[in-house]
Amino acid sequence: MNHTTPAPTAAPTDRTYLLERIGEAAVVQVYADAFRDLPLRERTLVWHLGQAAIAGRDIFYDQRYAHNLEMRDVLEAIVTHPAGVDRSTLDEIACYTKLFWINTGPYNNLTSRKFVLTCPPASFAAAAHAAERAGARFPLQAGDTLDALLARLQPMFFDLDVDPIVTSKTPRAGKDILTASANNLYVGVTTADLEGFEEQHALNSRLVKRDGELVEEVYRVGGRYSEQITAIVHHLDAAIPYATEPMAKALRALITFYRTGDEADREAYDIAWVQDKASPVDTINGFVEVYLDARSVKGAWEAVVSYVNHEKTSQIRTIAEQAQWFEDHMPWDPKYRKEGVHGVTANAIDIVAETGDSGPVTAVGINLPNSQAIRERYGSKSVSLSNVNEAYDRSTLPEFRTEFSWTLDEAERSTRWNAFASELTTNMHEVIGHGSGKVAERLNGNPQSALKEQYSAIEESRADLVALYFLPDRQLVEFGLVREDAQEEIVRTEYESYTRNALVQLRRVREGTHIEEDHMRNRQMIVHWLMAQTSAIDVRSRGGKTYYVMTDVRAFRDGVGRLLAEVQRIKGEGDYAAALALLDTYGVHFDPALRDEVVARVDHLQLPSYTGFVMPRLDTVTNASGEITDVTISYPLDLSAQMLEYSAATRHLRS
Ligand SMILES: [Zn+2]
Repeated sequence: MNHTTPAPTAAPTDRTYLLERIGEAAVVQVYADAFRDLPLRERTLVWHLGQAAIAGRDIFYDQRYAHNLEMRDVLEAIVTHPAGVDRSTLDEIACYTKLFWINTGPYNNLTSRKFVLTCPPASFAAAAHAAERAGARFPLQAGDTLDALLARLQPMFFDLDVDPIVTSKTPRAGKDILTASANNLYVGVTTADLEGFEEQHALNSRLVKRDGELVEEVYRVGGRYSEQITAIVHHLDAAIPYATEPMAKALRALITFYRTGDEADREAYDIAWVQDKASPVDTINGFVEVYLDARSVKGAWEAVVSYVNHEKTSQIRTIAEQAQWFEDHMPWDPKYRKEGVHGVTANAIDIVAETGDSGPVTAVGINLPNSQAIRERYGSKSVSLSNVNEAYDRSTLPEFRTEFSWTLDEAERSTRWNAFASELTTNMHEVIGHGSGKVAERLNGNPQSALKEQYSAIEESRADLVALYFLPDRQLVEFGLVREDAQEEIVRTEYESYTRNALVQLRRVREGTHIEEDHMRNRQMIVHWLMAQTSAIDVRSRGGKTYYVMTDVRAFRDGVGRLLAEVQRIKGEGDYAAALALLDTYGVHFDPALRDEVVARVDHLQLPSYTGFVMPRLDTVTNASGEITDVTISYPLDLSAQMLEYSAATRHLRS
């Protein structure tokens, strides 16, 4: 599970964070300041893990859309050979290409919806021919011409009605969630086909219907994505000598899993990974989160490479150390309380590389592994991404707060406390939110299979509610997590900003009248449930503008406690009907007129809807015998340069 709300504040600084604005997206450089102070051994380890991260990047492109890599090749061929391309066409292609890189294909990361080129197809073709004359090479198959290639891809580049949604959990009546989703996790498979079919490689395979039979194409060495996975394994292997023993054990287990693709080996890897609690460097590499799949089953490939940020770690660690206290005080039926909570490992980290499902658009907190059975037995690891939070913080515009706050007081409170409140709630969300609770025995530690496409949004709701519930608790002062004289202000700030967010986040869904993304569904649901069931929130209007105003902290918290008890019950019992009703009533649908108003307000102020991050760049210095004698870090400040470099690094792996 990951958590994706940034902590917005603005702080002046003399280095560049916000690099450019492309449509609704902001491009921001992330910095990893403490990297240069790591010992050479750890920097070398990070280097190899970073190479493994780049090696797998194309897997996620392919998983997200079957035409993605071909489309990317065409775009990159044009933008790298601009001589002779008409200026305005080139501008449009460059803009589209950047959005394509940020979103890993032509689907908006948050809305799941397709975006298209707006120049005429003939201008695009002219640009491609100009690029070809300038020496560009296009991904032509045997007997293919450039015109044939462009004709084949024209619907993908230009037609909003062809493959319109990448993940469609709420398709139009009569449509199937799998065939309505444009992703490449299934080919010709409907939900009905899956009845009675037992997947052997649920997380790491593409499911294809071939001659009426379901076939699992397993992601492993010798299977699907063999070239990329072999390259990943090569780099992980090179990393092992520089890792601590517990981390080396986890890396060896991961390599075994990449070779066999077997569920038992994936479990062994998850266990080894979660048991590596103290290593200063860590990586997530594999088929992990299930948000891309409308069924919430298939893992999307991602890689994160990070080191521990010691300065920032104390808060999240304190929450982890007190996990049993929180568990004992959960406002839900005691039968869902976990006893003997152990193994919750929490760190603040700085990321050095994020690819695939985790970059350029990144989470700010991560809690893994996702397997409920392993979490209950072996615990979990929670991280907050400190340098991503910092980059969000430094790149956010102050108008975000003032525009949607009902009073000046509210806006000022947000300026003062929002970064702190938001980081604390993110940490609680990850550690005691996702980390808490247990489910009924008969679910075999797998509530996902009962809750199906509703699972992720229910689990995100649960984690948010836990954080919101404990924020006002006096015990937080005892634990040293908040100052006694500031707690009331912090609680009010967070409740206000959580409430405002249900309005502000509508800017991200510019088409349609419903929400697909699970974190967004969860936040709409909680705020609208509180509006309907408590007196905590008022909807007000002034000067033609709508405001969501949090008016009663106590009513808010009481409501959160009641809702949390119900959401835990839904997860604990795998109550699909209740999950569907709750989310469909409060979380999925919205008023398009209200959305249009919000969009007009943010566009007027030129506020971005989401952010793509440029990663640091690592380089090695080697001696005459090829050994690494130094690993240096620098900051490209340039999305295009980094994306082109990553693409070039793996082109040879695509046969
Ligand atoms: Zn989460």
